[in-house]
Amino acid sequence: RADGPYQILRLADGSEVASHALIVAVGLEYRTLDAPGVERLAGAGVYYGASITEASSCRDCPVFIVGAGNSAGQAAMYLSQYAGRVTMLVRGASLEAKMSQYLVDRIRQTPNIEVLLEAEVAAVEGQDHVEAVAVRHVPSGSEETRDATALFVFTGAVPCTGWLRDTLRCDREGFVLTGSQLLEGGRPLPGWPLERPPYLLESSVPGVFAVGDVRAGSVKRVASAVGEGSIAVQFVHEHLSRVR
Ligand SMILES: Cc1cc2nc3c(=O)[nH]c(=O)nc-3n(C[C@H](O)[C@H](O)[C@H](O)COP(=O)(O)OP(=O)(O)OC[C@H]3O[C@@H](n4cnc5c(N)ncnc54)[C@H](O)[C@@H]3O)c2cc1C
Repeated sequence: RADGPYQILRLADGSEVASHALIVAVGLEYRTLDAPGVERLAGAGVYYGASITEASSCRDCPVFIVGAGNSAGQAAMYLSQYAGRVTMLVRGASLEAKMSQYLVDRIRQTPNIEVLLEAEVAAVEGQDHVEAVAVRHVPSGSEETRDATALFVFTGAVPCTGWLRDTLRCDREGFVLTGSQLLEGGRPLPGWPLERPPYLLESSVPGVFAVGDVRAGSVKRVASAVGEGSIAVQFVHEHLSRVR
């Protein structure tokens, strides 16, 4: 909670710490798949993001995507430029239920993307790296094992912000809003107590910054989380020079 210029942080043992500035870097928790092989092969063909590194390692190979939201759709389009075949496993009965229509249309027009509806991962197989994915057809329970080089999981992520959502402004999913996300028509949102607008990476409480995966709109990569941390330190100094 904020108390004048102090941020008061209550720890799990009930004790409290007061500070003039705070950097929140608590990250998020990916919803994981509960299927044999998924945990063991995480990072070895099971991925929770699709960057150029993972995409180029799948060149001309068969890959699977789990999920049916926009992030899954965007990943499918991206990976289709590299992989030989992209198979999307969608638990529901239609792709339209959770995905924007423009993405659905683009996916349907892309010849090397296949969409399997009412399908889920039964298991991931491979010695040191993903070699195959067992796919279960949900209504019938029947299973089929197919060759695969990678499985990309896009089933969503939850920011670890349950404890601060009453204090900091967050988006609908609970990611912390910072900087220009807290402006409306160029002016700070109601409740912002200072003359100056929020700094880059500063939350709705002056002196409290959010960096990395927990920040709304962040890139969800190690390098950007580290970079944001070092940028935030500069703004902490700036903030401290004004409160003292
Ligand atoms: C399986 C997997 C593979 C990935 N592979 C890559 C990759 O190859 N390249 C890449 O660039 N990125 C990758 N990422 C993404 C990358 O891990 C994140 O973008 C990065 O770690 C974000 O850093 P962060 O500091 O914001 O959060 P995190 O690294 O998640 O750190 C947050 C920390 O805060 C702790 N915490 C949470 N709540 C609290 C609390 N209330 N109090 C105290 N501590 C708390 C957590 O336990 C955790 O230690 C991968 C992610 C996953 C899940």
